Amino acid sequence: MKLPQDDVIRYIRAMGDTGRLPVPREKSRMTWNGLNRAIVGCERCERLVGHCRRMAEVKRAAFINETYWGRPIPNWAAKDLKAVRILIVGLAPAAHGGNRTGRVFTGDRSGDFLFRAMYETGFCNQPTSRSKGDGLELIDCAITATAHCAPPGNKPTPAEIGNCRGFLDETLRLLPGVRGLVALGRIAFDASVRMLERAGYVMPRGTVGRFGHGAVVWSDNRERFVIGSYHPSQQNTFTGRLTPAMLRRVFETARGLAGMEGVVGEAATEIPKI
Ligand code: SF4
Repeated sequence: MKLPQDDVIRYIRAMGDTGRLPVPREKSRMTWNGLNRAIVGCERCERLVGHCRRMAEVKRAAFINETYWGRPIPNWAAKDLKAVRILIVGLAPAAHGGNRTGRVFTGDRSGDFLFRAMYETGFCNQPTSRSKGDGLELIDCAITATAHCAPPGNKPTPAEIGNCRGFLDETLRLLPGVRGLVALGRIAFDASVRMLERAGYVMPRGTVGRFGHGAVVWSDNRERFVIGSYHPSQQNTFTGRLTPAMLRRVFETARGLAGMEGVVGEAATEIPKI
């Protein structure tokens, strides 16, 4: 990937303190690749950028001979952007996962768990995710994050999430075929609902803060939905709070609700609606 161009850097600076992109959504001419260049070159959150670089220098013993990415992680999508129906919203990259490999959910246990479920429900072509060159491809979906930099303790602050908000909005704008958002964890769930609201969708009152695993919320016009899932972090997967079957069921349901062909779980009618 080329380094950010001057115009992209100017564009991001123009976001100012609001986290919003500087032009109305319908006038934005940002392309998918331009957005990714802007993300990779972003330095708005001093704490996170510093942490990414520090982790890339310190490294984990198992990866001591690897060159870490050490920067914000770009979005990742199926090759045909127009075919993308589901946008998966994660929290933030892992210090020795995405921050090492340069690809979201790649090279860590969370990714193994996630891509196994996605593979079994037709959203990617293989169940493992090791490195950028491992042959993994997404199918009809894209992956983004509420914060594109690895945060200390896996916890971005509300201000840092706010800084990254403009990137989320542009991501959704550039994927007009998206029908549903799969939100991994409470923070991603709230961010997804708010993202749809900023995009002009009317969401039911009181939705923010009502995350639950499998909870589904539709926009008033039934054009977009958000489905929540426990995050596939080791904290959840090692304790059995999130099992492979539970995550698979979320993706099956997303498929069904988005009207996609393929595996459709019975869960589509069982999952609690908000
Ligand atoms: S978290 Fe987002 S806004 Fe903050 S530095 Fe990283 S890419 Fe930029």
